[in-house]
Amino acid sequence: MIPANKIELNYRVMKHQDDERWRHIKWPASVTEIHVHLGGAVPLYRLWEIAIDRGIRGMGAGYEDFIDILKIQDDRVKDLDTYLEVYDKVELIQSGPTSVRESIIIAIHRAYRTGGMTQLGPGGEGGSPNPLFSVNRFELRFNPLKRTGAVFLKGSHAGLYDVDRVIKSACAAVEDVEIGFKGKVQVGLIFCFGRDMTFEANMVLAEKVRAWREKSNKVIAVDLAGHESKNPLSDPKRLAEMKEVFDMVGPGLGRTIHVGETPHVDIETFIKTVEAINPQRVAHPIVAFRAWWDKKDDRGLKLLQERDLVCELCVKSNLLTNAVKDLAEYGKIVNTLDEFGIKYTFSTDAPCLQMTSLAEELVLLLDAGAINEEQVLRALRVADENTFLPQMGNSR
Ligand SMILES: [Zn+2]
Repeated sequence: MIPANKIELNYRVMKHQDDERWRHIKWPASVTEIHVHLGGAVPLYRLWEIAIDRGIRGMGAGYEDFIDILKIQDDRVKDLDTYLEVYDKVELIQSGPTSVRESIIIAIHRAYRTGGMTQLGPGGEGGSPNPLFSVNRFELRFNPLKRTGAVFLKGSHAGLYDVDRVIKSACAAVEDVEIGFKGKVQVGLIFCFGRDMTFEANMVLAEKVRAWREKSNKVIAVDLAGHESKNPLSDPKRLAEMKEVFDMVGPGLGRTIHVGETPHVDIETFIKTVEAINPQRVAHPIVAFRAWWDKKDDRGLKLLQERDLVCELCVKSNLLTNAVKDLAEYGKIVNTLDEFGIKYTFSTDAPCLQMTSLAEELVLLLDAGAINEEQVLRALRVADENTFLPQMGNSR
């Protein structure tokens, strides 16, 4: 059953034969996806199985109810904050070294098997027999502190599980999958600091990242994620603290940040945040487009252009949070980026919670005429060229 939400209203659900409509495009056999959260990367039917295995309570009245609770639907989501509510539940299921390991193994296989499919089954199962491509290079991001069971505790980020064991388990899971694929698949982990976490908790995580990047080359970057409403970084003190957190991990590690997705971050704060954190990539910097379109203020876009920053765009996610109004506005974003000569990529953000795949999102844009084939293929090349993953065959 397909929920009647905005996306489905805007866009006819793909049928199997619709894969063929896009097969004339010279898709690469394998692609790179650089913006996916672990919390949104395990198919719902597998989360259900993990929850059953671990005896987790409060999962609804049964399988269908569970799927309904976790699926991010347009009628329940109005902004980033309501979008993120589902993550709290998933992070609980994924807590602890064992669940993190299982989730990472599943997430990588899901991307490889279903990333190129334009249709999925109701629980996120693979749904089309002839994928357009496979995702062979994959950046997976998550917050290890939010996998410690900390949500059970009040006022502190100390959790049930040891964060070192969680990180160790994550790195080992990636290594084991890569061995299994005999070099055909390459994966890196990005650790997310939380806008919703205290400075002290983020510093604890930064110190862990600093230690673990020396032990494992699977740690490739850090990110800033979470509720912009809780910490927009408009307060100079809080921005200085966040800079300290990023600096704690040491130089040489990749940096990407979620910034400017919501109106909580104004253009001044956007500019100051990019200048302070100094990332190589930014995730959905919507505020920069709005400043240019609405006020002819091009400072945000100029900043992206001058620093040669790569924009990580996530189509369905941006539509669900209402960061972007519709697919026509998405086309406007892409054309604005081209006008300014700014690089961009497409990723799924939370494919399993949004019931989507990379191929489906690209076809969604193509089908709506929001983007052309050349732009899609260029975006895929940009992801190949701007991944934080080391080049294949080069350990660092
Ligand atoms: Zn994201």
